[in-house]
Formats: sequence, C-alpha cells, structure tokens
Amino acid sequence: MKMSIKQLLLLIALLSITLTLASSLYAGYRADQEALKNITLETNSAYAQKLAKVTEEYLLRTERTLAYSADTLKDTLDTQSTELLNREAERLAIQSESLSSVVITDQRGIIRGSSKRVEGLIGQPLQGLETTKSLHTGMPEISEPFVSQTGRLIVFISTPIVNSDGRTAGLIGGSIYLSEENVLYNILGQHFYEDGSYVYVVSRFGMLMYHIQPERVGEHTAGNPVIEQLKKGNSGSMQLLNSTGRDMLAGYAVIPLTGWGVVSQRPTEKALAPSGQMVFEMVLKSLPFLIASALLVLFLASQIAKPLVRLASFADGQMNGGDHTALKSGAWYREAIQLDRALTDSFSKYKEKVEHFIEESSTDALTGLLNRRALSEQVRVFTEQEVGFSLIILDIDRFKLVNDTFGHTAGDEVLKFLADKMKAQTGSDGSCYRYGGEEFVIVLPQMESLAAARFADRLRIDISSSVSPVGRPVTFSAGVAEFPVHADHIVKLIELADECLYEAKETGRNRVVSASDRTASV
Ligand code: GH3
Ligand code: MG
Ligand code: MG
Repeated sequence: MKMSIKQLLLLIALLSITLTLASSLYAGYRADQEALKNITLETNSAYAQKLAKVTEEYLLRTERTLAYSADTLKDTLDTQSTELLNREAERLAIQSESLSSVVITDQRGIIRGSSKRVEGLIGQPLQGLETTKSLHTGMPEISEPFVSQTGRLIVFISTPIVNSDGRTAGLIGGSIYLSEENVLYNILGQHFYEDGSYVYVVSRFGMLMYHIQPERVGEHTAGNPVIEQLKKGNSGSMQLLNSTGRDMLAGYAVIPLTGWGVVSQRPTEKALAPSGQMVFEMVLKSLPFLIASALLVLFLASQIAKPLVRLASFADGQMNGGDHTALKSGAWYREAIQLDRALTDSFSKYKEKVEHFIEESSTDALTGLLNRRALSEQVRVFTEQEVGFSLIILDIDRFKLVNDTFGHTAGDEVLKFLADKMKAQTGSDGSCYRYGGEEFVIVLPQMESLAAARFADRLRIDISSSVSPVGRPVTFSAGVAEFPVHADHIVKLIELADECLYEAKETGRNRVVSASDRTASV
C-alpha cells in the first residue's frame, strides 16, 4: 500500500519539526557546554590566583615574624645563651603555627639554638646550600623543597641576623615539613570538592609540594602542560588530561615570591554535567509546543489533502464508470482549484462525447428514429426483465415504385414523413425503430397484441389517408406479435411478426396481421 498525500505531508512536517528541534537542542547543548567550560576555566583560574596570593601573603608574614625576631637578636647573638635561643626558637615555632621547627645559627651556620623538635641538631652545622643561603645573600630566603638533614622533605624559610654594623651574625630559619600536615594544608586543604575538584602546588622545578594524595608529595612531574606553563612563570587556564588520563579543566597561577605554582582543577565531565540536564529540561519544555505543532500540522495536512483525495476518488470513480454526481472537492488553494476545474471540465466534455457517441450509434441518421442496434438492446432489456411487450413490424407497400417514380430523394422524404407520424402516435407509449430500408418496428411495452394491432391499424389509416411528400398517400403493411405470449424468444418473435407482415403483403397489402388471429383487419 502506497502512502497517502496526507501521510506524506504529515511525515514531512513532523520530520522538519523534529529536525529543527533536534538541531536547536544540539546547538543549545553545545553553546551551554562551551559556556560551562569557559566559566569553569575562569573560576579555576581566579581561584588559583587567590590561593597563590593567600599563600604568598602567608610566606611574607612568616618572613616578617622571623625578621622581627632577628632584629631583637642583632648585636647580642654571640652572647646569648643556648637556653634563651632555644626558647626564642620554640616561641617562633609555636607562634607561627605553621613552622614545624625553627633553628638559630651563627654566621658559620652552626646551630646554636632550636625548637624542641630538632633539639638534637644543636652544635651541628646546617647542611645544604639552600639552608645557609641567607648568610651569604644577607636577604630573607625561601628554599626550594629539599630533603633536610633530619630526612624530611622541607621548605626552609630563613632570614639573616644582621648586626648594626651590617655584618651578618647568623640566621633564623623555619622549616615547613611538606610530608606532614603543614600550613599548605590549612590554606589549600579545605578546598577539595566532592565532585573531583582539587588543588595542588608544584615547586619551581615541578616537584609536587602539596597534593590531596599526600603520598604524591615529593613526586617530580613531567610532561604535564599546566606545570610546563607554570615553570615558564605563566598563569592562566586550560583543558588537559591529568596524570591518570582524566579530562580536566584547570586554572593555574604562579606565586611570584617563590616561583611555585598553584593549580585548581575540576573534571571536565563534572563541569559539563548540567548541560545534559539542560537538554532534558528543554525537551520537557518544548514538548507541549511539539504536541501543539503536531496537531496543527495534522489539521493542515488533512485540509491540504482533502481536496486532492476527493479529486482522486472522483477521477477514479469516473474512470471506473462510478456515479457521475457533481464533484464537491472543497478545493481552497490554487493548484487544487486548477485541478478541480480541469477534472470537472474534462469529465463533463468526456461525458458529453460519450453520450453523443452512444446516441449516434443508436440513431438512424435519415429519420432520427432509433436503429436496429437500439432495438436489440431494448428488447434484450425487456426480455431479461420479463417485461411483456408487443412488437409491430411494418413495411411500405411498393416503395420501389415510389423511388422509381419520384426519385430516391423523394423516397427519403417519404421515409421521414412516415417516421414522424410513427413517433407522434407512439409518444411515450413505446419506441420506434428503423429496422432496415423501408421497414420499421414499434415496440409497445405492457401492451397486449390486440391493442397493438389496433394501434397499428390507427397508424395505417392515418398514413393511408394523409398526403405524403410525393403528393399522394402511401400505405404500409404490418405484422404484430406479443412477447412472451406468442414467442418467448426475440428471434422467434421477430420471425413470427415477419410472417404476419408477409401474410399482410400476400393478402393484399395496406393491412395489419396479428399473430393472435392471423386475421387481416382492413
Ligand atoms: P413491397 O410492397 O413488396 O414491399 O414492394 P417494395 O417495392 O416496397 O419492395 P422491395 O423490398 O423490393 O423494395 C424496397 C425498396 O426500398 C428498394 C429500395 O430501393 C428502397 N429503399 C430502401 N432503402 C431506401 C432508402 O433509404 N431511401 C430510398 N429512397 N429508398 C430506399
Ligand atoms: Mg421491404
Ligand atoms: Mg416494401
């Protein structure tokens, strides 16, 4: 079964609605994802900047605290007792809250006093260039992470003790133990989100100094594009795959004081999750619109299709000889109206022509009476429907003579004259046929042969007493037979009527013989 125009229209419209909706949903989804990604990158970048600043402020504050203490010890360091220096170191360690241990050294870097945690180091020299740097520079220093002489990974913040004469007398240095809970945990540790966001800090050379997985502290990172940017001293944001291959949206910022980098990142998939929800909500919100559009489309499709469907079934009906009632297509738009007109016109012309041909094929051109073919058809219908009828067959007497005397054209006029008379008398009681040359038949439905014979006789009298076109009366002879009384088959009936006609001719012409009595009536 082929699709109907209504189904096609509906399909096209629904398809276009769906495609439009899908494409706008997709565009919305993509735009939303882009916006979410940008917002997340910006947020993380701003957040990393803020954490970098807070960390830097903390380091500066620590430096200031150490500097203040160094100032109180200048000029007197050499004479201070170990006990006093230990107390001062302990006080600094406790006060700063974030320094796990504090040491005070002389100008050679020999530890002269310390906080309790590293008491055992007193009298030993500080090890490593990182630790004694401020003795040489005369400036506060913050070291890169390194493993200290106590075996811990630390950052060493130191400030020189400079006497009034400008000579460096020693240093005060505090350690942040990176592998233990330290100040970075206080500043950064609370910023771990359940959705997989996290923050980490790397040193200038890419060593992890703070990470949510403490066991990774001290690890050297390589190949991470964010860390590469930080090493170059850049701050910003980017999308990247982290060390576990997870897609991340990262913001990063450099701490100018130390060159360390702070990274705040969030899994891309978590950041973009709301756009899936947005699509769902958009679908939900556009559902009423979709249903309303579909209903409207359904209505329009059926309105557009209706005239075409009617036109098509009308044409179909016409072609299959269906009813010929006038077309009411209800066409309301140009093409349908054009089709309607064209179909109506062509079918009415076609009908006229067919009717004309039917008439032509059943009419005698000379007399305008029905012809022999029409007679056969009429008789067939009556016999089929078992309608009784009488049949009169009549033949002009000595017509050859008329032709010979007055000419063929005059003979034709006589034939027409007789035909007109026959028609006038028969009226609606029956029908008249030209059976051949100058022979005619009258069929009188539901008339007994007796009445038919009388009918024929009236015609005979009328003709024989009228002046014909040749200027004198003509006569005819006739035979009458009745169906089914005299014969139940048409061939037999005509034979019988013919025999009666023959008898009428034989018995003197200008008379009617009926099969009922075979008696001539004059
Ligand atoms: P009968 O009384 O025995 O019928 O004599 P008839 O002369 O009528 O007999 P016949 O059947 O021999 O002649 C019929 C004539 O009718 C012959 C033919 O020329 C003439 N005829 C047949 N058809 C036409 C026609 O269409 N026009 C004219 N003018 N004459 C026709
Ligand atoms: Mg004849
Ligand atoms: Mg004749």
